[in-house]
Amino acid sequence: MSAIETIHVDGVWRAAASGATREVLDPADATILQLVSEGGAEDTDAAVAAARRAFDEGAWPGTPVAERSALLRRVADLLQRDREEIALIESRDTGKTLEEGRVDVDDVTNAFRYFADVVMNESGGRVVDAGSADVHSVVVHEPVGVCALITPWNYPLLQASWKVAPAVAAGNTFVIKPSEVTPLSTVHLIKLLVEAGLPAGVANIVTGAGLPVGQRLAEHPDVDLFSFTGGLASGTKAGAAAVSGAKKIALELGGKNPNVVFADSCATEEGFDTAVDQALNAAFIHSGQVCSAGARLIIEEPVRDRFVAELARRAEKIKLGRGTEDGVECGPLVSQQQLDKVEAYVASALSEGAQLRSGGSRPEPSDVRPASGYFYAPTILDGCHREMKVVREETFGPILTVETFTTENEAVALANDTEYGLAGAVFSGDSARARRVAARLRHGTVWINDYHPYLPQAEWGGFGKSGIGRELGPTGLDEYRESKHIYENLRPEPVRWFAG
Ligand code: NAD
Repeated sequence: MSAIETIHVDGVWRAAASGATREVLDPADATILQLVSEGGAEDTDAAVAAARRAFDEGAWPGTPVAERSALLRRVADLLQRDREEIALIESRDTGKTLEEGRVDVDDVTNAFRYFADVVMNESGGRVVDAGSADVHSVVVHEPVGVCALITPWNYPLLQASWKVAPAVAAGNTFVIKPSEVTPLSTVHLIKLLVEAGLPAGVANIVTGAGLPVGQRLAEHPDVDLFSFTGGLASGTKAGAAAVSGAKKIALELGGKNPNVVFADSCATEEGFDTAVDQALNAAFIHSGQVCSAGARLIIEEPVRDRFVAELARRAEKIKLGRGTEDGVECGPLVSQQQLDKVEAYVASALSEGAQLRSGGSRPEPSDVRPASGYFYAPTILDGCHREMKVVREETFGPILTVETFTTENEAVALANDTEYGLAGAVFSGDSARARRVAARLRHGTVWINDYHPYLPQAEWGGFGKSGIGRELGPTGLDEYRESKHIYENLRPEPVRWFAG
């Protein structure tokens, strides 16, 4: 298989300066899906230099907002044109189902359209009352400059778009480094930006590893903003390097997200069925490889046994297989490394006294599930408590832990007992209680009687160690803009502070 050129610098696609390549694997059978360029420090420096030039000397930062907005709309249309192609790329690269890939493309399209709108609506400055008719005081927005964008492997297109769309809308230039595990859809996205008419040097991509490419971007003196989505360990390390150079930083990190289920949500058969179904979706969609996965079920004692039994029955029936096969509901884990990690978490939980209610092993191979794929059965661990490693740490796999509560205060305390604070949910038939509990949850997104939906117009991000800053919403655009106060004295005269 010959390698494709996946490094894009100053409008030109090219191979790595070193000639190095990387094998991108198909997680469903561990075969090589694609050979891509493996960028290094030299490629990174060239990409930053191109972005710097395009910002300092190019037309994009000064391009009228209406033109920037129109370009984002063209990208949205191109995403829809290539919907099936991109969904297939994403499914084969990450392992997720084709349908999930299509949903991602639609979500991303909406994000581009949202930022096309919001940049138009929010482009005007703000006149500030300076307390004198002789002063004109206005706050205006300007692009930050050169942005370094680092993304993870689980939602490659989506995470890239949440950064690229506002960065481009605000008039910045950027270098993106997608995860080395799943770079393919981001490469396609850059092609669409070019096709939509973005000038050379504005959108650059270097495919390669966190070390050296990501770290180099964090440290590079010509980068103005470092925006990272990924794990806590690498995020804080890279973030520290960026901060030491006084760059602006945004970190979207992990989560250990509670799904709090009150017994009153299960008072009717419909309510019970809904809460179970949502808990299943919260924990196991994309094999639990979701930053906001509802990996901790926190359930009220009276319904615990029936709820967990039904959850386990349904988890056992989830159809695992290659994401592109008809009828498959859940794909493999993304890599051998993730599989090893999940197996270790389950072993540790069992050794700490958790009871296995479903899964707990790799499934039998089948015609849609090659033996060489990284499959793991949806796993439910009952009898968990907060001292267990599997409850405290992000497993990023198909593992659901079950904890029990008897009072509302206890439910809130358990749900907040995490160093993270990305997302969580409360299921209750009593809306006053649901809202009361939602108000007390220390998480960036809280769902009531639902799990997982997000809106491009609503901010996304975390409390605690889930990160710094927000993506999406008006704040998601502001992350890519500087505010400048211009104070104009319309009747200048001496101040005479000094007498001489
Ligand atoms: P990761 O931290 O291993 O890698 C993320 C990115 O950082 C990759 O591109 C990687 O190459 C790069 N990287 C690694 N070390 C680096 C370094 N020292 N300097 C700069 N870049 C470096 O994360 P992952 O395994 O790809 O993704 C899973 C993690 O991402 C989970 O923790 C998940 O919760 C998190 N995530 C968070 C959100 C969110 O919105 N908060 C969304 C998706 C994923």
